[in-house]
Amino acid sequence: MTAADLIHTYRTTGTLPHLPQGHFIDGALHPALDGAEMDSFDPGRAQVLGRFAAGSAADVDRALSAAERGFAVWRDTPPATRCRILIAVAMLIRAEADLLAVVESLDSGKTLAEAQGDIAGSARLFEYYAGAADKLDGRSPDLGGATVAFTSREPVGITAHIVPWNYPTSTLVRGIAPALAAGCSAVVKPAETTPFTALLLADLLVRAGVPAGVVNVVTGTGAEAGAALVRDPRVRHVTFTGSVDTGIDVMRAAAPNVTGLTLELGGKSPLVAFGDAKADQVAEGALWAIFSNSGQICSAGSRLILHRSLHDEVLSRLVERARGLRLGHGLGNPDMGAINSALHLSRVAAHVDAARDRGLDIVTGGHALQDPESGLGWFYAPTILDRVASDDPAVRQEIFGPVLTVQVFDEIDEAVALANGTDFALNAGIYTPDISTALQAARRIDAGQIAINDYWAGGIELPFGGNRKSGFGREKGLEGLEAYTRTKSIAFAV
Ligand code: NAD
Repeated sequence: MTAADLIHTYRTTGTLPHLPQGHFIDGALHPALDGAEMDSFDPGRAQVLGRFAAGSAADVDRALSAAERGFAVWRDTPPATRCRILIAVAMLIRAEADLLAVVESLDSGKTLAEAQGDIAGSARLFEYYAGAADKLDGRSPDLGGATVAFTSREPVGITAHIVPWNYPTSTLVRGIAPALAAGCSAVVKPAETTPFTALLLADLLVRAGVPAGVVNVVTGTGAEAGAALVRDPRVRHVTFTGSVDTGIDVMRAAAPNVTGLTLELGGKSPLVAFGDAKADQVAEGALWAIFSNSGQICSAGSRLILHRSLHDEVLSRLVERARGLRLGHGLGNPDMGAINSALHLSRVAAHVDAARDRGLDIVTGGHALQDPESGLGWFYAPTILDRVASDDPAVRQEIFGPVLTVQVFDEIDEAVALANGTDFALNAGIYTPDISTALQAARRIDAGQIAINDYWAGGIELPFGGNRKSGFGREKGLEGLEAYTRTKSIAFAV
């Protein structure tokens, strides 16, 4: 079915046929062992999209047993074969992109165009890591004398992938694509509000040639299924993407088994514009830095730090553009889609209501909305808070919604201090035509990635990750393989 057929079916029936139900274990769907189920919602209509299995520790145990068997097979699959299979995965994702993108848009609330971009990026990730599968070589240092030695890179074993709801497919793929290239097996726990694309993808992997049991998906809550997975000693690496508080819980749970960890946590990323930057370029960059995916991006540019001379012009352009953004159901391809859940909408609203109570200047937005066509759904207006003090909670806490704070500076030292003024260090944008200013700021701002003159500049070939409370470890790029391999040294006397 094409995207248009799927959208027509959804609009006329209120659901999609064949949404996968059950955990995907050992190459097939299985209901939860205790029969428990949960609802997943279409946030653009605030109505149930479908039911899915609510996993328990027993389901996780079953998935880990499958992953043990899968690892034994996949570890010994020649790297050239792994490479060919991962290329087949990328091709199949492209062939089935319409279904994946429509389901992603419906389950998360994001616009169809954003979902299509995420699916295309996921195919690209498989292609990229397919090319690395047969190049994970060791080295042979010269020890002199009578010793010959070499190193080999081995897969770490079973890996666990705990995924959030804002990028359900691409966050999952940036973990499992390098894990599979390295020869690891995986058990995935998608977020409880976005279970379906992980299940579709797991089935697609098997059809592309990944042996059954290599990638397994257990759906359900973090407290039950997620916690059971990350504390299990059979898991040798946990890749967790989510909030700081849950990340700390995951660290604690992994500690007794000394399990490896990649933590991709929250952000409160600055976009710093110097006085010589073009106001229209800054306004457009800042608009999409915060309002893409309705602000539900860990690396969103949620703090605009403007040179005083730019403030009035940038703010007036930005407010005009923000007020003109079209909000609506994701499948209608508006500028901004829905907030992922009623719970998250209430959290975003609570942050802004508290800012209002503190007397902050809400220049635009500051309220929830519905889809203008249906009058339904969970939406929040693009919101801008002006001249916010550096110690205000709106500047220091992650809101994870379409809410931007604006601050001003006069000198570069002040800009750097404001940029580094939170516990997070994930992304930063710098706008200036002056290369020297840009590089000075890039060196001094603490962040995993810095983009100059285009907030979203970058690609899957570049490593991605955070510092301080934004986490540790790097995904994407060749660095993304490091978590999934360990080096063994072998030396022998000759
Ligand atoms: P969350 O921490 O509530 O949940 C993330 C995942 O963890 C979900 O799958 C959840 O079920 C699971 N989980 C919850 N408790 C668990 C436990 N005790 N053990 C194991 N798993 C558990 O986060 P969220 O609200 O889904 O996502 C939003 C957060 O994710 C934001 O803070 C955002 O910044 C962050 N995020 C970071 C990145 C990044 O790359 N740095 C990317 C996307 C999102």
